[in-house]
Amino acid sequence: MSEIFGPTVQGEGPSLGRRCAFARLGGCNLSCRWCDTPYTWDWTGQANSGIAYDPRKELRTIPYTEVRDQLAAFDVPLVVVSGGEPLNQQGRLYPLVRDLRDSGHDVEIETNGTIAPDPRIAKLVRFNVSPKLAHSGDPKSRRIVGNALSAFAALPGSAFKFVCRSEADLDEVAALVHEYGLDSVWIMPEGQNQTALDQSLARLRDAAISRGWNLTTRLHIIMWGDRRGV
Ligand code: SF4
Repeated sequence: MSEIFGPTVQGEGPSLGRRCAFARLGGCNLSCRWCDTPYTWDWTGQANSGIAYDPRKELRTIPYTEVRDQLAAFDVPLVVVSGGEPLNQQGRLYPLVRDLRDSGHDVEIETNGTIAPDPRIAKLVRFNVSPKLAHSGDPKSRRIVGNALSAFAALPGSAFKFVCRSEADLDEVAALVHEYGLDSVWIMPEGQNQTALDQSLARLRDAAISRGWNLTTRLHIIMWGDRRGV
């Protein structure tokens, strides 16, 4: 576990603005150069930050019951499980998700879409799937896993959120949408501050709308900047 925090709001995608709490899990199977949470996985300084984080300082092992109780104490209707790549640990995630649903919480899981979901979890949550494009720097064979993406595409409620910089990125999105039959497509500008987000959104907005896709900003960046734990 990297972080548990709340109450806050979901900053991205279909639930943007909803009150929620976050559980951020450690570890990732990709290494995107512009990753905004390198402290969950980058122990060698591969990402743009160049910082080699120390897993002994960044991650903790916590019983799921404690995670559940901390999340429930925020008294919010929605829990967002993020990372890193949370489905790296989906076997251990299942009892947490089950208990949160039993206590009346909505649960969203944010994933890079490279690991097919456990059917037990898939029945209980909604997925925000964020396949990575070429500008992430990850090889295509690692960032696009056909059977996993098809599994998410077959689930009702899945949303596909693409971090984009330019109109050329939208062509890459279009190819994936066509190949995997993706519905509920969301285009999100890349940026770690409001100026960068505004500029990126201005480049993308008209083309994204004309292609029939949704847009999202990054509300937490606008409200709090590039801070952890909000
Ligand atoms: S998949 Fe997400 S958490 Fe993993 S490196 Fe890429 S942006 Fe970071």
